[in-house]
Amino acid sequence: LLHKDRERVWHPFTQMKDYAERDHLLIEKAEGLYLYDADGNRYYDTVSSWWVNVHGHGHPRIKQAIARQLEDTDHIMFSGFTHRPAIELADKLIEIAPPGLGKVFYSDNGSTAVEVALKMSFQYWQHVGRPGKTKFAFLEHSYHGDTLGAVSVGGVDLYHATFRPLLFDAYRVTAPRISRWENGSPTPEAAEHGVAEALEAVKRLFESSADEIAGFIIEPMVQAAGGILIHPAAYVAGVRELCTRYEVHLIADEVAVGFGRTGTMFACEHAGITPDLLILSKGLTAGIMPLAATLCTDRIYEAFYDDYETMKTFFHGHSFTGNPLACAVALESLRLFEEERVLEHVRTISEALRGQLPRFEPFRHLGNIRQLGMIAAFDLVQDTETGKAFPSSERRGYHVYLEALKEGLILRPLGDTIYYWLPHCTSEEQLHDIVDRTCAVLERLGYR
Ligand code: PMP
Repeated sequence: LLHKDRERVWHPFTQMKDYAERDHLLIEKAEGLYLYDADGNRYYDTVSSWWVNVHGHGHPRIKQAIARQLEDTDHIMFSGFTHRPAIELADKLIEIAPPGLGKVFYSDNGSTAVEVALKMSFQYWQHVGRPGKTKFAFLEHSYHGDTLGAVSVGGVDLYHATFRPLLFDAYRVTAPRISRWENGSPTPEAAEHGVAEALEAVKRLFESSADEIAGFIIEPMVQAAGGILIHPAAYVAGVRELCTRYEVHLIADEVAVGFGRTGTMFACEHAGITPDLLILSKGLTAGIMPLAATLCTDRIYEAFYDDYETMKTFFHGHSFTGNPLACAVALESLRLFEEERVLEHVRTISEALRGQLPRFEPFRHLGNIRQLGMIAAFDLVQDTETGKAFPSSERRGYHVYLEALKEGLILRPLGDTIYYWLPHCTSEEQLHDIVDRTCAVLERLGYR
């Protein structure tokens, strides 16, 4: 199988040296917090299978929900037709999302839900007589997906630069820079300074160019793929205020951080704000089925109508939009959130995770130790005082990844950033075991 995998399968990043020089791990079973390879080795899935998994793998209620739905409908088209799971899910999402979001548009994955938000925002301004608002603003280090619109508003050069000739022009904005962390959070001075500087950059941009900006897209609270950069809530609140003042849509991409990952159901709740457009995927179906949703305000929705002359329809529709199986799984996941009091457990484990952070502090080469909810990260650095990085050619993060596999742990690096993105089903005992194993790996590699 692995021979055929090498011969026939083009995985994401197949050619990157780190992944090209060894076979992929052949996973044959996934259960709870664990993945099992073909030789029966067990691994902690500490990154929730690319930040999607919520209640653990193979949850019996999720399996039953798929089987039940399959008895009624598998897939049916979603234009001119509708079905119970999609309706009930939309109703539930509107109930739990930040107040003021009145419509749900389904698509299939995070990237397309981002495209939907960008196109909705763009078309809205065309419809309300502000045709000059055709551009978008985004943050440095941001990641919003791999489709061309999403890459256009992506701030990670690795993904963005190659495709530049194909991309639309957008404004890149400075993100908050946090110089000091204490017990997993920015120190108050570092937070205040980082937020003030970053909000000033947004204000400057809006003062000069808001007339041509349709929307500002951000990953609220945590920029994930850009390096697990955790931002103070005051930044998100400040951005909301500026977007309102300068009439720019705030587009919140909660593809990665939604559904309890940061300790609250949605990351926007930390700042007590409602965005104009909210993008959800990954954890929406507990990470089991592909589905995404773009929520918008009624005000945005109401600018769309078709009188046969103006054609103010929203021109977007996917084959698999609102797939009944995926919607049924999402509904079951949200029932689990309520019935199993998942957010209470998340709060307990988040506290326990914070309690474990001091164990990383004695390591000489671990910098910017940070945490929010079920997410924690640190950087491998030469010098924690100056934050000086190791030469990237040393591929430090990758070597931690390899060593961690031997320890039964999936610690997938982002460059030299090592992180946990834990599923909500993690127990305190499992958490301690994960941290024990992580410390053992770091010790062996000489980071202490
Ligand atoms: N937005 C964010 C914040 C993401 O982290 C991701 C995926 N990592 C995406 C969008 C794209 O989602 P997908 O991979 O499902 O297209």
